[in-house]
Amino acid sequence: MKPIHLLVIEKVDTLSERLRNLLSSEEFTITTIPSIQEAEKILEEFPLDRPVGIVLIHAREEPWEEFVRSLRKQFFLTPLQLLVITESLEQQKLLLEEGMDDIFHPAISDDELALRVRVAGMRYRRQVQLVEEREFLRKAVKQEEELAAKIMDQNRKLKRAFEDIERVNEELVRANKELERIARHDALSGLLNRITLFNAVDAEIERSLRSGAPLSGIMVDIDHFKNINDDYGHQCGDEVIRMIGSWLLGNLRKYDLAGRYGGEEFFVVLPNTRLNHAVKIAERFRKTVQTYTIQCNSHSIQITASMGVAEYRMGETRDMWINRCDRAMYVAKHRGRNQVVADTFPSGHTGRLG
Ligand code: GH3
Ligand code: MG
Ligand code: MG
Repeated sequence: MKPIHLLVIEKVDTLSERLRNLLSSEEFTITTIPSIQEAEKILEEFPLDRPVGIVLIHAREEPWEEFVRSLRKQFFLTPLQLLVITESLEQQKLLLEEGMDDIFHPAISDDELALRVRVAGMRYRRQVQLVEEREFLRKAVKQEEELAAKIMDQNRKLKRAFEDIERVNEELVRANKELERIARHDALSGLLNRITLFNAVDAEIERSLRSGAPLSGIMVDIDHFKNINDDYGHQCGDEVIRMIGSWLLGNLRKYDLAGRYGGEEFFVVLPNTRLNHAVKIAERFRKTVQTYTIQCNSHSIQITASMGVAEYRMGETRDMWINRCDRAMYVAKHRGRNQVVADTFPSGHTGRLG
């Protein structure tokens, strides 16, 4: 442990002399200053590597109060022990009010003087320790605050990153749904494509067999479509297919399905529908096709369609059922087109398995 710097302020060296004899140089380094003015100078400069730990004032007739007051102010947050030796009881009282750490009478014995200076030394070391602890805590709090600020900053960045990921995910989900929709639908007509149509037909057959509910289908084929391509161009042929798609979508019930079966052939699946009802739906659609005019490249195009309707029969495969619809549609073509023909031969019925 380093010795404590003890500053003795006195005109005559008597007290310093006494202290040098009483205290070892390992405990205290003693400096004597003859006046307040010089003491002020020393304390103002106050070297950090050799701070003054104790100021011992040998007070006589000088007015010490002002000096003591300013010292207390200067050392408000810095460890310092202020001791005074004075005979005057008046001065003792005054100095006590100014916050002296100890006051003794000049008649104090050597042993007591040494003891009281050593105790002041212990208080000084405790003060130093407290200041160091305070500094340590201050640094710890500062570090903790910096760390907390960093963590909050990281949290903000993470939150932003999560929000970005969430947004990208939502976009991906949307893009995937759109891709799925594109993959399932025919680009020109907007109806189900052939593969999806077949899967949907299989699912509806399954459902009909399970529930015993009737199931009907309509095969739609545009009449003389080749002529439309030839007369108005391929682009107008495409426009006709697009319009048939949108009319079908607009005319069907929400659980009905329509797909593009071939070039200008469409297949409509009507769950829970008997043949006679399916014929009515087909007839209504035939009239729609016949009524409307399609505008393309300043041409007004009118078309008709032939349709074959068949109700699904238990035990039939998907192809057998669709072929019956197709055959009925060809009968409609042979009978002069722009009409609906129902397949009724051989007669049968749908029903529950088993
Ligand atoms: P029918 O009344 O007997 O059905 O006569 P059709 O001319 O409609 O029958 P056909 O099967 O002889 O002709 C179908 C034509 O449809 C042939 C083909 O060039 C045309 N086609 C098929 N797919 C498309 C398409 O995606 N776009 C266009 N523009 N034409 C197509
Ligand atoms: Mg055809
Ligand atoms: Mg045709």
